[in-house]
Order: sequence, then C-alpha cells, then structure tokens
Amino acid sequence: MDPENQMLRKLTRVLFGKRTTPAAPEISQSAPSTAVQRQPREAERPAARSPGRARLEDLDLSRATLIEREEHCISRKDISPNALKVLYRLNECGYHAFLVGGGVRDLLLGDTPKDFDISTDATPEEIKQLFRNAMIIGRRFKIIHLRYGREIIEVTTFRAHHAPENEFEDDASNRSIKGLDSAHSSSGMILRDNVWGNINDDALRRDFTANALYYTTDGFRVLDFANGLEDIDNHVLRMIGDPATRYREDPVRMLRAIRFAAKLDFIIEPGTRAPLDELASLLESISPARLFDETLKMLTGGHAEETFALLRQFKIGTVLFKSTMNATRDPESPGSKLLVLAMRNTDSRLAEGKTVTPAFLFAALLWAPLQQELQRMLNGEAVTLTDQQEAANRVIGRQLQITSIPKRFSIATREIWELQLRLEQRSRRNVETVYQHPRFRAGYDFLLLREESGESLNGLGQWWTDFQISDKNLQEQMLEALGKAGGAKRRRRRKPTRHPAGDSGTAA
Ligand code: ATP
Ligand code: MG
Repeated sequence: MDPENQMLRKLTRVLFGKRTTPAAPEISQSAPSTAVQRQPREAERPAARSPGRARLEDLDLSRATLIEREEHCISRKDISPNALKVLYRLNECGYHAFLVGGGVRDLLLGDTPKDFDISTDATPEEIKQLFRNAMIIGRRFKIIHLRYGREIIEVTTFRAHHAPENEFEDDASNRSIKGLDSAHSSSGMILRDNVWGNINDDALRRDFTANALYYTTDGFRVLDFANGLEDIDNHVLRMIGDPATRYREDPVRMLRAIRFAAKLDFIIEPGTRAPLDELASLLESISPARLFDETLKMLTGGHAEETFALLRQFKIGTVLFKSTMNATRDPESPGSKLLVLAMRNTDSRLAEGKTVTPAFLFAALLWAPLQQELQRMLNGEAVTLTDQQEAANRVIGRQLQITSIPKRFSIATREIWELQLRLEQRSRRNVETVYQHPRFRAGYDFLLLREESGESLNGLGQWWTDFQISDKNLQEQMLEALGKAGGAKRRRRRKPTRHPAGDSGTAA
C-alpha cells in the first residue's frame, strides 16, 4: 500500500473509530478489497488511469473557483459518516467523488442538510460493483441509492451536455424511448439524461447556482463552478444558464425554485422568476406521480406555509391546485384560513419531530373545494354521508388529473372528511364507534382546525376535547346530558344519486 493510501486508512480509522467495519460491509464480495480495475470509458471522459486514489489535480478545474479549507465553514463532523465513507471508498478506487447539492449548500448556510448527495465519475454499474447496498433507480435520470439503515446516500454520475439528437413528443411512451441514454421532446423537455460527462458539464447542468457547489475530501476544499458561493452569501436563487430553456428541459425546476426560495428564504433572481408564469402550464406534461412527489417535498420540508404563500403568487399554484386556489380566493374565508392553519400546523409538527401524513395535507388542501362542490350539489341543504362521498369523488378525481394521490392516502383523506360528519352525530353508539376509529385523532385535529378557522360548530371541538380527557363516569354524564338536550339528532336520509365523475382510484 502506498504511503498516501496508508495515511487515508489511518484518517478513516480516526474519523470513524470502531464503526468502520474491517471488511467494509457494502463492498461486494467479488470486488477486491482495495482498488477495482476501471471499466473502459467513453471517448469524452479522461483516459483510464492506473488504479489508485483519484486526485483533484487530475481534473480540469480551469473553470472552477477553489475555496480552501480555511476559507469555508464546512466541517467533516457535520457530514454524515456514511457519505464520507462513500466519498473515501470511491476515491480509494480511483474515482473522483464529491459531496454536492443541498448537503454543501445547507452546510455553507449553517443549516443541517436533509440528505447528502454525491456526484462522481464512476458509472452506475461501476458503483454497483463497489457497493453491495447499491440500487439503480430511475429511467429518465439514472441514480444510485446507497442505503445505510434509514439513511439513503444518493450517488449520481457526472452528466454531459447532449445535443437533442433523439426527438419525441412530450408524452412519448416509455416504450418508444426504451434503451436510449439521451432523448428530448419537441418542446425541449429532457426525456432521458444518462450521458456521462465531466465535472464541468455536470456542474452546469444542475439547476441553481447554490446547488452547484462541490466539496472534496481531497484537501477539504469547495469547488464553485457557477458563482454559487456569492449567491448563497446574498441569499439569491439563480438558475444556471437561460432560465426559460432550463424550465423547458425540466418543468419541475419551477417547483424546485418555489421550494428552495421558501426553504432557504432566498430571493428568486428576476431573470429566474420572469418565465415562471408563462411556462407554468408545462407542468401538465409531467407525470402525476412525479408531481405528487414534488408536492410532498414542497409541503413536508418544514416550510409549507411560506411555500403555499409563494405558490399562490405564481400561476404554478393554480396549475397544481386549481380547485383549491379557486375556492380560496377570499383570504378571510374559513376555507382559506383552514389551509394556512393546516400548513402552519404541519410545519410545527415537523419542527417538533412529529410525523405528518399526506392524507391530512390533502384533506386540508381539498376541503374548500369539497365545500364548494357540496354547495353546488345541495344549495345549502343538510349534507349526508352519501352526498359527501359523491362530492369527494369529484373533488379528488379532479386533483388526480394533475397530481396522483396514492390510494392509501386518498382513502385516509376521505375518512378524515367522513369523520367530520360523524363527529357531529353524538348518539351513544356513534360516539363509541367514532372514538375507536383508527383515524379518530386525525379527524379530531381536523375538526379543531375548522373551528379555529372560523367555522361555527357550536363548541363541538371542545366537547370532544373534554370527552377525551374525562374518565368513564364523566363520559357517561356527557352522553346523558346530550341525550336530554336532544344532541343526538338523526340526519335526513336521501336516496343516493349516481354521477359519472369520480375517483377512478388509479393513483400510483
Ligand atoms: P434537498 O435539501 O431538498 O435535498 P437538494 O438541492 O439536495 O435539496 P436534491 O433533489 O436532493 O436537492 O438534488 C440534489 C442536487 O441535484 C441538487 O442540488 C441539484 O444540483 C441537482 N438536481 C436535482 N434535481 C434537479 C433538476 N430537476 N434539474 C437540475 N438539477 C437537479
Ligand atoms: Mg439533497
């Protein structure tokens, strides 16, 4: 072993102590314990070197600004040990590997990164050879997931710029582009982005300048290819390259702009902001499943309130949540207030380390449209469970045309809504069954939000709060009191009518 490798091993031992298992468990059985012979590479990549540690000097960094260790605030102790392990392992085997994206950005901002992403010149297949826990994910954009317990390190191979040689319609089927590494649609959307390149190309195909900073364990330096450090200092979110072209390549970048602006409290640079409204409708060509994922990222990142306020300012909000935006135009209406409260509540739950369910979020997002639909159907008449189910079908069905809602969540959303009716019906039998309902807590929390948003519910929330904190005897008295006061009213029954529209239940 050469002295450099020895030093690196020593450093690794010092860093990870006993946690570094001697035979590095993620390394495949067939891989040699030190260096792996590299595969022949594509023409544009540097010629294969002899195996050994990859050095920063071997890369063309003429277009990067190097920020030395003492000039930035990133400390290894703030980086996930697993991410460091992956960086060292790739390096030892002759590959260049960097921490990139949110991990570097958030550390530079003094925040705790949500996850750690790695960018490397090893191909997905080469990474798979090195790590037993590697899984190749995605077709449009192939990435590797390395799983360490609950932590996933995302590893991507440097991407190249690729000319739009394979052109398809926006809604080209997966089958028609099967096997292609590069494909664009006629409107400029990237359908396949799996052409490997070098670090310079890779940096410039990233979305925002703040997301294009690379951290290397070689000297613990930061590499800046797009003036990202200055933008981070100034809290500016700036798209790399021509914003309109970059949004056309991948319209989801518009949602990412909103998400990062809200999360980081950055100003969206005017040029980056300018095309957002004009291009918002491009989101309609993105798969509902991907839009559901992005929506969740936007609303469960701890900044849902700011994110939703920003969504409202842009046409993107109307594309994503058309019926919600239409039904909550008046900021003083209970529906609008409930939405804000629900987002605020989500953020505080996350801040306290509690979980949030997409079912509750969608129950809040679509509550105002549900009320609007019921009003349209019944014109003020009392609502039965059947009416509400019909209205829910229509409202959820409309939302499914843009974002999917996996069935396990849409079912729970309906249950939260149904509980709103059932929580009102306080007959002895109903109270018992409702209280045992697996979704009772979510239904009750939703009821409190409705009251807080100004819906007049005659103290129903307080009644259920008291009921929960009372012992058996007191609960009995509460039920008796209701009986005397005629609280257990029966609801009007209507014959169910059939309507063609509905939740097809085909969500991903
Ligand atoms: P987060 O804190 O949410 O993880 P992130 O910036 O790390 O933020 P990721 O979705 O984890 O976001 O992506 C990692 C990096 O990959 C980004 O920082 C960016 O450089 C690049 N990236 C991700 N999605 C895109 C995209 N649609 N277009 C261009 N670059 C992207
Ligand atoms: Mg990330």
